[in-house]
Amino acid sequence: MTQGPEKTLQMSIAIGLCAGIEEELRGRLVEGLPDLLARDDLIVETDNALILQDFKTSRTSWDENKVANSADQLLLYSDLVRTLASEKPLRLEFAVFAKTKSPSVTIHPGVYDSRQVERTKRIVERVWGAIANEHFYPNPSHHCATCSFRKPCRDWQG
Ligand code: SF4
Repeated sequence: MTQGPEKTLQMSIAIGLCAGIEEELRGRLVEGLPDLLARDDLIVETDNALILQDFKTSRTSWDENKVANSADQLLLYSDLVRTLASEKPLRLEFAVFAKTKSPSVTIHPGVYDSRQVERTKRIVERVWGAIANEHFYPNPSHHCATCSFRKPCRDWQG
């Protein structure tokens, strides 16, 4: 009898008190900009840490670069969660479900990097400035097929 491919499930489970699932937090990260509304996937409190976990699905396994390039949102959320963290250190994690031939769930630690947080805040400032100054222009993509602004977008003449 031929055996099919083995399915591996890698998972590191944080044992602790569930402090929040899809918890909404709101707070001011940059003076003069609207509040950031964060919806955290999972917050777990263990004896020695508060863990902020972000769930992701992916067609491929994640590596270090993918973790670093995906960290902006989690880092900004962590600034809000930090206010709840009391004296416990805050740990950041991505729980990635890779829909590969052998599906896996892998926990990747996120590293808090204050320079990256400041950089992300500057990006948010620039984007907000562009919105406030109505710097809008068509940016065609696969989203156009279901976009409710297709007609005004087509009529747009600058
Ligand atoms: S149709 Fe919608 S998604 Fe496409 S470019 Fe225009 S505004 Fe953007």
